[in-house]
Amino acid sequence: MTPGVKPLVAGNWKMNGTSASLGELTAMAAGFGVALQEKADMLVCVPATLLFQASQTLSSAPISTGAQDCHAAANGAHTGDISTGMIADAGGLAVIVGHSERRTDHAETDAVVLEKAKAGLAEGLMTIVCIGETEAERKAGSTLDILKTQLAGSLPDSWEKGELVVAYEPVWAIGTGLTPTAEDVAEAHGFMRGQLVDRFGEKGGKIRLLYGGSVKPANAAELMAVENVDGALVGGASLKAEDFLGIANAYLEIA
Ligand code: PEP
Repeated sequence: MTPGVKPLVAGNWKMNGTSASLGELTAMAAGFGVALQEKADMLVCVPATLLFQASQTLSSAPISTGAQDCHAAANGAHTGDISTGMIADAGGLAVIVGHSERRTDHAETDAVVLEKAKAGLAEGLMTIVCIGETEAERKAGSTLDILKTQLAGSLPDSWEKGELVVAYEPVWAIGTGLTPTAEDVAEAHGFMRGQLVDRFGEKGGKIRLLYGGSVKPANAAELMAVENVDGALVGGASLKAEDFLGIANAYLEIA
């Protein structure tokens, strides 16, 4: 945790879910009680096809919705893409950019991610920029170098609107059931905090730093208690209200 920074528990449904899944959102809203709302914010990034319905479903709940990607342009000949204005129009308040699955499956570079991040922030969205090392990079001992490069290349120099959030997601921990140790997470997040303060000053000290990669109810309390970990980005375990709430409930245990 970072003193004075409210944690964020964010879900990423990836390419999962149809309108039949909206009941999970209703169950999340029912289980996100006042005591927990005071401790943490909650966000669910659903597939674009569900964003409008999800936003409507949660319209009277203190849970935000968001998208999992965007195009950097406002509109135009980009078949299949969606713009940040479209996300906002569908009720989304947030967007994930630079997820490792986008970087791998769609060859997104830091430069591409940077333009998407700028577009998300310019629209006033909470913009979650994902970074993280692969297994080979970790084995080569270059984790911190990778984080440094990705932070330098993916984050804008300044922004007037929206909220910039950074998610550290070791690629080898995503969807594998493997997690770094709490000490490894502390080292990575401490390093990122230092980089952000060097670059953005006081503002960099308050940027929410999420950890993502196989977060589950069973390991959430340990990971979320780590210094400079200001919440979680959760894939698989965000699909079911019981699991997602189980992760968020870790904040009821953390002083
Ligand atoms: C993710 O996709 O952002 C993620 C962290 O996935 P999982 O929780 O399933 O590892």
